[in-house]
Amino acid sequence: MLKKPEHVLVLGAGPAGLTAAIRLLEAGIQVTVLEKASKEGGQSGTTTFEGRHGTYRFDYGGHRFITHNAQLLKLVEELVGDDLLTSQRKSVIRFQDRTYDYPLAMGNILKTAPASLLVGAIKDLALLPFGMPKDDNFATWITSRFGKTLYKNFFEGYTGKLWGIDPVDLSADWAGQRISLLDLKDVAKRLLPIGNDTPRTYARSYRYPKHGIGAIFERMAQKVEALGGEIIFDAPVDGFDYAANKISAVKARGSSYPADAVLSTLSLPYMVNMTGGESALAFRGLRFFNMPLDMDNLSDCTWQYLSDPDIMATRLQEPKRRSSFMAPKGHTSAMLEIPCDPGSKLWEMDNEQMFLKACDVLNKLGIDSSTATGEYFSTYQRQAYPLMTVGYEKNRANAIAHLNQFKNLIQCGRQGTFRYIFTDTSMEMGQMAADALISEKDHRSTIYEHRSERTVIETESVA
Ligand SMILES: Cc1cc2nc3c(=O)[nH]c(=O)nc-3n(C[C@H](O)[C@H](O)[C@H](O)COP(=O)(O)OP(=O)(O)OC[C@H]3O[C@@H](n4cnc5c(N)ncnc54)[C@H](O)[C@@H]3O)c2cc1C
Repeated sequence: MLKKPEHVLVLGAGPAGLTAAIRLLEAGIQVTVLEKASKEGGQSGTTTFEGRHGTYRFDYGGHRFITHNAQLLKLVEELVGDDLLTSQRKSVIRFQDRTYDYPLAMGNILKTAPASLLVGAIKDLALLPFGMPKDDNFATWITSRFGKTLYKNFFEGYTGKLWGIDPVDLSADWAGQRISLLDLKDVAKRLLPIGNDTPRTYARSYRYPKHGIGAIFERMAQKVEALGGEIIFDAPVDGFDYAANKISAVKARGSSYPADAVLSTLSLPYMVNMTGGESALAFRGLRFFNMPLDMDNLSDCTWQYLSDPDIMATRLQEPKRRSSFMAPKGHTSAMLEIPCDPGSKLWEMDNEQMFLKACDVLNKLGIDSSTATGEYFSTYQRQAYPLMTVGYEKNRANAIAHLNQFKNLIQCGRQGTFRYIFTDTSMEMGQMAADALISEKDHRSTIYEHRSERTVIETESVA
């Protein structure tokens, strides 16, 4: 049974941790936040870069804020005020020197694809009604809904590159939560050139602070402190004192913090391994290569998905498409998202070498790399994506069972629950975790599965 605490240690100052901290403080509970980094925001942070032509801003992978929770949107609107923009998304898929609309639409495929792809895709689609959709792994999930041709062309190479594993070893859960087509009826609606081309799970407009997604969490951190909470930065949690069913202290930066209750957004396997258990759950890392460009606009796309397996990046982004304040007037910038793991060649490569490789990518995509100003830097996310391999559910359930033995510990957030979720869901989980402590009700299993229905959150966005 959870007991209402007087003081809560919140681990991590990302969206989940900060939203929880505000809720607790507003209920009169004291809060100390321990954060490894020197800045708040976690994966939803924004970094600045002073270039020759002025200030550039880069998210850790460009974000957009979308929610269908009106109360959460109100909180963000109140925090960010007039600086919260409404932006429009346009994305394309680049593959074998052709540019397709994202999400895929039959009208556009007919106009753009080579004849061989068209013949194969149409043959596959004609056969689809005779097979049942399969959910045993990512590859079969896609082929049984879209056919082999679309899978081979648009999903196989991209997915292998993104996850670093064969798509047959990837759980269908990722497709179920990420791909915006749910069944054959959707496929037909989506792929046939009739009616509305926008799938029901695809939101074109979204909210975005003019100086980057991180602005939401800068304001949240200020609110935590204004409410009397304490955030300790540069304080990586590296140990716990625990006995029987209670965490008694959290260790960070050589100090020990006595724990009345612990609300943790740290990764599920990390927490298990630090508290006497073992977990093999793993994450996929991302390196972001950021570079100012000496041109006004790169394109009209928020995201360009790069499907060719021989191009090292999975997405090319232009931060200015989210907000014109992300680059100095008359200039723009590019960000390449490069999936790789700590210790790998791409992760370790120095920036000079990476710059040459990045210029190659731009040239291949028809972008004149001589417009690069020669300024560049990398940012990294070691735990960008929970690696949902086939059968991962069992490891996840074991990890949850291990942590649930500690009655004063609640996990929440993306890494904390090992879920592929967006910022808004992490924030909701933070609120739920705080509410569980305030109300003394053990909602931990509900938090772990919050919004785990097989749909993408964009469906009914209020943003
Ligand atoms: C490339 C990419 C693009 C994305 N795009 C979008 C998007 O467009 N829209 C959207 O809504 N969501 C997007 N997301 C998801 C979003 O970033 C996350 O859902 C959200 O940031 C998760 O919040 P969190 O608080 O759960 O975790 P995090 O943001 O990861 O915060 C966890 C915090 O804990 C800290 N921490 C970790 N270990 C320790 C330790 N040992 N001690 C102390 N502190 C520690 C971290 O430094 C971090 O500050 C994207 C994610 C990625 C990787």
